[in-house]
Amino acid sequence: MSPVIAFAPPEPADWQAQQRAARLTTAALLDHVGLTPADFSAGVVDDPDFPVSVPPHFLAQIRPGDAQDPLLLQVLARGEELLPQPGRLTDPLEEADYRAAPGVLRKYRSRALLIASGACAIHCRYCFRRHYDYGAAMLTRSGEAEALAVIAGDPAIEEVILSGGDPLSLSDARLAALVTAIAAISHVTTLRLHSRTLVAIPDRVTPALLDLIRATRLNVVIVIHSNHERELSPAVSVALGRLRAAGVTLLNQSVLLARVNDDAITLAALSRRLFAAGVLPYYLHLTDPVAGAAHFDVDEARAAAIDAELRGLLPGYLVPRIVREVPGKTAKTPLWALD
Ligand code: SF4
Repeated sequence: MSPVIAFAPPEPADWQAQQRAARLTTAALLDHVGLTPADFSAGVVDDPDFPVSVPPHFLAQIRPGDAQDPLLLQVLARGEELLPQPGRLTDPLEEADYRAAPGVLRKYRSRALLIASGACAIHCRYCFRRHYDYGAAMLTRSGEAEALAVIAGDPAIEEVILSGGDPLSLSDARLAALVTAIAAISHVTTLRLHSRTLVAIPDRVTPALLDLIRATRLNVVIVIHSNHERELSPAVSVALGRLRAAGVTLLNQSVLLARVNDDAITLAALSRRLFAAGVLPYYLHLTDPVAGAAHFDVDEARAAAIDAELRGLLPGYLVPRIVREVPGKTAKTPLWALD
């Protein structure tokens, strides 16, 4: 292991500047955390199609000199990504089959999902959309009318989900315009945002974002995507508190990731920290068979053992439901119902 270096990355005050500062080469990331490629059994790689992206705040939570750091392992492009991975797919959830219009996915009857942005502040190496063709399948300004017409034309749609990419990578002005247009559809009652930006750039909770949330008639749910308690820094907790005070329902969705959070003690600590920050654990996803991420897989037997242990450690309301997304199913499949 390399010697530990003193490390204090600058955090520009402006969240968009932090988002721009996130793009790093793999070598620069290793330099920041005082490690070398030799610290990783399969080395490290650069993938121009899915480059390393780590905002300064998230970078500051990584322990320098620790090649096993669970935050680092989520964002470092390791050599395993390029090893042969039979059976792995570029569209593991067959999402192309659910496109109702460009940028609109209809998987479930009462919900419509908008791919609101192709950008993310942080690039998570396990991402199931890491090969997603955002250019062809993202909501664009020119396609927005068609997308909203799909929602307006189906009274069964009660909830609109903004996903991506990360919808909080959009500017406040763009987000406000989109939310206003959705709120104008009378049968939509709930707006849900799925975002990992909040743990990467807590400054994303701007006064303008809070004003937008307070002003809309929609119930606003934000699902933060946190996988480890150390992602919930004091600054993140403050940002989440502001969202709660603005009336947002906060939930968390994690992914069960090898060497990151695949033990009950780590997950119990995450649940407790989430609850202290006003966030309820919701789902714990088994990984999808996406190409380049097999090294994050945790098998179902291990997941079941973790689930049993978690139930002994936590009250039921803090135990996330372990699920897998199975293409073609009308809902997520709980662990106990998997074949
Ligand atoms: S923030 Fe979400 S969509 Fe973006 S890379 Fe990470 S997991 Fe994927």
